[in-house]
Order: sequence, then structure tokens, then C-alpha cells
Amino acid sequence: MSESGMVYLVGAGPGEPKLSTLRAKELIENCDVLVYDNLANPELRKWASLNCVQIDVGKSPGRHTLEQRDIEKTLVEHAVKGKVVVRLKGGDPFVFGRCAEEMLALDEAGISYEVVPGVTAALACAGYAGLPLSHRECGSTISFLTGHEDLSKDSLRVDFSKFAKIGGTLCIYMGMSKLDEIVQKLLEGGISPEVPTAIVSNGTLPRQKKVVTTLNKVVKSACEAKLQAPAIVFVGNAIGRTGKKGNWFESRPLFGKRFALTRPTAQVSKLKKKLEDRGAEVLELPLIKILPSEDKKLIAEIFAGIATYEWAVFTSANGAREFMRLFFLAFGDIRSFGPMRIACVGEGTAEVFRNYSLEVEMIPEISTAENLAKDLVATNSLDSANVLIVTGNRNREILVQMLEDIGHAIVDTLPIYETDFTDIKDAPDYEKFLKFGADGIIFTSSSTALSYVEQEEDLVFEDGAIKPIHCSFGPETSKTLRENQLEVNLECDSPSIDQMVLKLVDYFS
Ligand code: SAH
Repeated sequence: MSESGMVYLVGAGPGEPKLSTLRAKELIENCDVLVYDNLANPELRKWASLNCVQIDVGKSPGRHTLEQRDIEKTLVEHAVKGKVVVRLKGGDPFVFGRCAEEMLALDEAGISYEVVPGVTAALACAGYAGLPLSHRECGSTISFLTGHEDLSKDSLRVDFSKFAKIGGTLCIYMGMSKLDEIVQKLLEGGISPEVPTAIVSNGTLPRQKKVVTTLNKVVKSACEAKLQAPAIVFVGNAIGRTGKKGNWFESRPLFGKRFALTRPTAQVSKLKKKLEDRGAEVLELPLIKILPSEDKKLIAEIFAGIATYEWAVFTSANGAREFMRLFFLAFGDIRSFGPMRIACVGEGTAEVFRNYSLEVEMIPEISTAENLAKDLVATNSLDSANVLIVTGNRNREILVQMLEDIGHAIVDTLPIYETDFTDIKDAPDYEKFLKFGADGIIFTSSSTALSYVEQEEDLVFEDGAIKPIHCSFGPETSKTLRENQLEVNLECDSPSIDQMVLKLVDYFS
């Protein structure tokens, strides 16, 4: 027999991808087959490799039993072929996740498995809604209950009136469709109608909603707030002991807002993190890609003469990074950089050099090529000086022209990378963008704006999708947007991630 496969029964956590475990991530990255259902956040599936086979076994109400057996069959089928299978389940696999049945099926088929716990919804929702589950004075038991184990059964299986007597904190999963009945039973069991009661729906996600009230009012409040499954119902005195800042998650300044980022995926991380830290959801919609220059001969010539330049001028962080990468390939030692002075269009570009402890002597106050040229000319150091301009394949004409015509410099231009438009349909979050739209789309450069202009007509948003406002990283990008009849709703004075975040917070709060 060939080596048999392995099944990992993995908890995906409650929703927020960062609340999944390192082990879950590692297993998803390395599995051959990923069997998932709808509670596991689709973001986690992006960790899988390109050749991983992904199988959706999402359960729909009323068709539970048969599908469960099919899921077990699917797991066995792939594992006997020697595949490494991840069975990804929302929250923790052992909490109302039918994991026991899958383990049994695997046992019967003689297949090895491992269980990877996850953060279960009750704990995550409590944390993200600021609702303590225990308290020294009034909450010394915590119970996990289910409103129904089986969607096809009409009546409650748990005797809630008994739990009214246990007291402590009740965390009720799958309780929304029978909320009335559950409340009724608890009251019949003698629990106080005034006991603090909360519902958290879509916990830990950007669309998290909650109500915090008392048991006798919870049905009405849930209706008014239009709370829907998935949701956890909490009942107990401890949850009433929340702190003033208990609402930490939903009160973050960009909570519930969604932004599309247009720069290449490799470069979104800093802005993405800052927006997410403030509660926003970020869609990756890269509209350009950066390709290294093919002109090896020119690069070799420039490096051979590196000691002759008085200034090296960089118009983008991409160019700066690629220049340093090639520099180290050519010389391997920072001392070969020589005495050339460095000018950069903005802080992001300058940062690249500061990381090598190289001093950047000039950054214009407002980051445009024109301002950079003006400031350089004003140094009176350009006359007959050799100046190297390191750029992409766009937007360099004005800089070269001003340094040559006004500054009388001898300019060499090194187009070190090329910017190419990507097909928006290939973007990782393209479908989500069309389905839900976004509160804002953030253009980080003229090229991302131009790429959008070219493809905007093909975008057909679904009904109800939010039309994004246009956020521009700086004057040059805004100019491009306006020249193409796109309104600029929000603009940085100068390209800067921090300023963009501040402006967004300002605009949306
Ligand atoms: N194994 C899962 C629970 C599966 S049962 C876990 O450990 O969390 C499905 C129920 O979990 C839903 O009906 C809802 O009650 C709860 N649930 C799952 N994700 C949730 C979320 N993000 N917010 C609120 N409730 C959630």
C-alpha cells in the first residue's frame, strides 16, 4: 500500500484571520486538499498553495445529515490517496462542530488525524465585544449551549429552564432562530428578567454588531438592531461588569469601513496594517505591477561610473529599492556607493536609504517631481555636474528637463523598473470589490490612477455595493485623476502613509 495520507481537523477561529493559530496557518500553507465550510473566513484560504485543491462543503439549513456523511467520505477519499487534507472548521472543531463524527469515520477508514484547536466564537465574541464571561463576585461558571444541534429539528433540545438555575454565564450558540423560546424557558426557570443579556453577531469581523440589554428586552433589541446569525447570545451578571472602554473593537475610528488598495500586493502591508489597526477592512486591488528593467547593459554602465555622479535622484521607493538591490549585486559592499549626494521625492523613498545609514540630503516639502527639481536647482550645485536620475518608465520628463535646462546639469537617466498595468479581474479581492464595493479606493500613484481609469468602465458593481470615494496620495496622483474626469474626494499634501491614515480617519469620523 502506498503511504497513506493524513487529515488535520483544524479550527479556523471565529472570523478575524489573525485569531487563527500559527499551526492552522502552517497546515493550510502545506496541505494538498482543503475542505472548508462557510464559517471559516475565506481569507484563510488565501494561505493555501496554488496547487491545493479547495473543496466547499458548506452546509445549508435543512440538508444537514446527508451532507455530513458526504463530508466524511470526501476526507477519507483524499486521504487514502496519500493526500494531506485540512478540514477547516469555524471556531474550534470540538465546539458544536461535528468533529466527533469525522474522527469516527477516519478511525473506521484507518486514517491518521490530528486535531488543531481554534478560538471558539463565544470566547472571541466576548473579547471583541468587551463582555467579561466570569467575575469574582457574580460569575463562577461558564456554560456553552446550543440553541439547536440539528437545523432540521423544530424544538429545543437543551432544557434552558434548568440552566436558569445554574446561573453563571450562559453562552448560547445557534440561538437566533429560537431566541423567543430560549428567553421564555430561561424566565420560566426563574432567572431574573433584568439579568444582563447581550448578542454579538459576526463577532471579530468588520461587520460585527452587538446589543447589550436585559433578558426581557433582548428579543425586541435584536429585532430592532436587525441582528442575524451567526451570533452568540450571552446571559449572566458577569457580562454586565464591562469596563468603560469595553467597546474597544467597534469604537475604533475606521470600524466598519472598507478600503481598496491599488498598489502592488508586495507593498500594501504597511498601509493595510495601519488601516486594519483602526478597524477598517482592506481589499487588495493591485492595479499595477513593478517589473525589473531588462536593460542590463545600461545598468552596468551606470554602476561602472558610479563614482562620477554628484547627485543621485530617486523618484520612487520602488526605484530606490531596486537600485540598492542591483547595487549590492554589483559591488557587495556599501563603501562602493561613493560620495554621491542623495535626493529623494519623498519620505518613503528616503527611508530606503536611511535603512543603510546613507544620508538623504534633499526631500522636497511637497512630494512632486517638479518640487524635487526646483529644490535641486536651488542648491546651485548642478552646473555641469553629473546627475543620475533613477526612475520607472513613467513621469520623469519634467525632472530631466528642469535639471538640464534650468540647472545645466548633465543628466543620466536610469529607468530601473517598469510599471505595467495589471488586469483588475486578477486582483485577489476583485469579486468582493464588485459585490460590496468600498468606502474608499486609495490611489498611491499616477500609474494606479491611470490603470483604474482604463479599466473603470468594465467594473459592474452589484446592487447595494458602496461606490468608493477617490483618495489620492498626493498632488500628482490627483492631477492624473482630475485630468481623467475622476473626482478627488480626499488628498494628501504629499505622499505619506501616515497622512493618508489621518485624512481617512478625519473624513470618516
Ligand atoms: N465550532 C464553532 C461553532 C460552530 S456552530 C466555534 O467553535 O465557534 C455555529 C455557531 O457558532 C453559529 O450559529 C454562531 O452561534 C456561532 N458563531 C460562529 N462564528 C461566529 C461569529 N463570528 N460571531 C458570532 N457567532 C459565531
